[in-house]
Amino acid sequence: MSQLKIAALAGDGIGPEVMREALNVLRTAARKFNLDLAITEAPVGWAGIDAAGQALPDATLSLCRASDAILFGSVGLPDRDPTIPKEQRPERAALLRLRKEFSLFANLRPVQLPKALAHACPLRPERQGNGLDLLVVRELTGGMYFGQPKKTEDLGNGQQRATDTMVYTTAEIERIAHVAFQSARLRRKKLTSIDKANVLENGILWREVVTRIGKQYADVSLEHMFVDNAAMQLMLRPTQFDVVLCENMFGDILSDEAAALAGSLGMLPSASLGNTTGDKTFGLFEPAGGTAPDIAGKDLANPIAQILSSAMMMTYSFGRADVGAAIEGAVQRAIQQGLRTGDIYSAEDASARRVGTKEMGAAIAAAV
Ligand code: NAD
Repeated sequence: MSQLKIAALAGDGIGPEVMREALNVLRTAARKFNLDLAITEAPVGWAGIDAAGQALPDATLSLCRASDAILFGSVGLPDRDPTIPKEQRPERAALLRLRKEFSLFANLRPVQLPKALAHACPLRPERQGNGLDLLVVRELTGGMYFGQPKKTEDLGNGQQRATDTMVYTTAEIERIAHVAFQSARLRRKKLTSIDKANVLENGILWREVVTRIGKQYADVSLEHMFVDNAAMQLMLRPTQFDVVLCENMFGDILSDEAAALAGSLGMLPSASLGNTTGDKTFGLFEPAGGTAPDIAGKDLANPIAQILSSAMMMTYSFGRADVGAAIEGAVQRAIQQGLRTGDIYSAEDASARRVGTKEMGAAIAAAV
């Protein structure tokens, strides 16, 4: 395989701490699998503003354009300079800009709850089966968040009217459906497509297109579910799901609901995928959580979300599911060994040992 060019943007808060561990794990995996990785680090977020006066410095954006994938930490520090205009704040000026710049239309959020961390899940143990393992695939650039018209009008009688428009084209549904079916092929080959076909025109089209694309993936079993039922089923019987496919707003809501099942943001990676060129798919890979200013700089952050984000990069951007699986396996082994950062630690578990960011990262790298 050709050289894999990775832009590593650690960002703010716990970003640099967890990124250091993820890069160590990646470099270890590269040695084991004989990969030619070219990792270049660059500032983003407040770190970008401090270094170059912009949340996404021009040099950082150029680096991303010259890379095959972005491994992103997180950006934003709520207590830094409230006077800065919101369009220049890191969350908007860096992250949203990158999503737009690279047309990242598919958001993948896996939720895994190993049996050993059952205590971290808000559901009763009998609802967790043998541990939870599902993947939410969310369409990221269409639907109600972007559809036009989008406006608030003054009706003149002290009343206003706000309009948002839910719009999807066949092509937009087709491309996200392909991502979902292909993701299901890498997993247990079951896809649940979410819609509101009983009420919305969008839902009818969504269901038709997903069903048609599904014929190209005869090895994946497809079912359809209304979004309100899906919200309920995630709480009642989450083990029935493998890959869950949603349009933008339904996915925003259901992915957070599903994330709550894992108990800690520190365990949750994510991927945002764009276009495929040759054997590589451009993507931005980042933890689901933010900069966690409350624990930053104290060796308390859980590096697993960042490490699993790098595993997703190997699987989804570079087509190296074997490397991704090796990193995921190493995370599982560290958990089986009883290592726990504070967010997943329970004093009731006699086999658990509380460790810091660095020790957890080093144990995972060793397990690779
Ligand atoms: P947060 O996700 O940073 O923190 C919420 C809680 O989860 C905190 O108690 C934190 O300690 C904990 N947490 C998060 N990640 C953890 C980890 N790896 N290990 C252990 N505990 C972890 O959310 P917040 O406090 O609402 O936001 C802080 C800043 O992060 C804000 O400026 C926000 O805008 C930004 N943010 C950025 C992103 C991103 O860059 N993608 C995402 C969400 C929030």
